[in-house]
Amino acid sequence: MENTDFNHIAEKISQPLQILITTHSNPDGDAIGSSLALATYLKKKNHSVQVMVPDPYPDFLAWMTGHEEILVFTSDRAECINAIERADMIIAADYNNLGRLNDAAHFVRHSKAIKVLIDHHLNPSEEFDYLISISRISSTSEIVYNIIEKMGDRHLLDKEIAECIYAGIITDTGSLSYACNYVETYIIMAELFRLGIDGEHLHRLIYDTYSESRLRLLGYSISDQLVVLPEYHTAYITLSKNDLERFDHQIGDTEGVVNYALSIKDINLAALFMERDGIVKVSFRSKGSFAVNTLAAEYFNGGGHRNAAGANCSTTLEETILKFNQILPLYQTMLKSVY
Ligand code: 5GP
Ligand code: MN
Repeated sequence: MENTDFNHIAEKISQPLQILITTHSNPDGDAIGSSLALATYLKKKNHSVQVMVPDPYPDFLAWMTGHEEILVFTSDRAECINAIERADMIIAADYNNLGRLNDAAHFVRHSKAIKVLIDHHLNPSEEFDYLISISRISSTSEIVYNIIEKMGDRHLLDKEIAECIYAGIITDTGSLSYACNYVETYIIMAELFRLGIDGEHLHRLIYDTYSESRLRLLGYSISDQLVVLPEYHTAYITLSKNDLERFDHQIGDTEGVVNYALSIKDINLAALFMERDGIVKVSFRSKGSFAVNTLAAEYFNGGGHRNAAGANCSTTLEETILKFNQILPLYQTMLKSVY
C-alpha cells in the first residue's frame, strides 16, 4: 500500500464517524461487493455507515449482507441528499471521478465531508482529499481486503465480508480469467475460502439466475445483432430501445454480452452499443495490449481499464456506431497483434 494515503485515512477513522460509502452508476459486482464489505467492516469499527448508489443495481447482486440498506439516489433522493449532508467522510469506492455519480455528484462535490477514494482505475481525479488508488490490483474488493489486513484487523474479517469480496473479485476478473495475473489475488481467494465462503454457491447466485427473456436476449444479440469486421479484428453488438423492450430488459440483463463478441478467435476488440433513456451506453472489451480505456476516453468521453472500459454517449445509436466505424482504421495496426 505504498504511495497511498493509507496512514492519513487510518488516523481519520480512528474516531467514530458518520461515513457514507458511494459507488458508480450502473453498479457492478465489484462496486456493490467492495462497498458492502467496507460497510460491514467499518460498522464493526463503531462507525455509523450508509451505502449509496446513483441508480439501481442488478438482482443477481441482491444477496450480499447489507444490500437491503443501500440507498438508491434515483428512488430515495431526499434520503440520499440528507445522508450526503450528514456525512463526516464520503468514500468513493470503485470509481475515479465524481461525475460517475450522475445527479448525486453535485451534492457530494458541495459536501464538507472528508472525501476518500478507494479504487483500482487509472487517473483518479483531484476531487478527493485522500486516495488509495492501486490500478494493478484486480478489483476494489481486493483492495478492501488489503486495507482491513493492513489496519491490523484480520480478526474482523468474517464470512459475510468474505462473500462480498469474493463477488467483487469474481465479477471484475471474469471468474479469474483476466486482470488477475498476480499471485496475491489467489492467496486472498484462498483466505476467503478459509473464512467459510461457499464459492460454488456464490458463483451460481451471480451467474445462474437468468430469466428466460434474458437468455433469449443473449441469443438474439449473438445471432441477429453481431457484426464482425475481421480486417479490424473487431466485433460489435447493437441493441436498440425496441430490442430491449422486446426482451423485457431488466437492469443487469446485458451484463457479459460483450464478452461473447470478444470470444471469437482473432477478435481483439469488442463493443456493445445499447440505447437507453436518451443516451447510448457503450461497453468496450479487448485482449492483450490493446487499451480500450484510451479509446473510450479519446473518442467517447468514457474510461475504465485497459481491457474493459465504457462510456455514456449523448449521440444517437447510429451516430455512435458510425463514429466507432470511422475510428477503427486508426487502430488497424494496433489491433493486429495484441500479444
Ligand atoms: P461496463 O462495460 O461493464 O459497463 O464497464 C466496464 C468498465 O468501464 C467499468 O468497470 C468502468 O471502469 C468503466 N466505465 C463504464 N462506463 C463508464 C463511463 O461512462 N465512464 C467512465 N469513465 N468509465 C466507465
Ligand atoms: Mn472494479
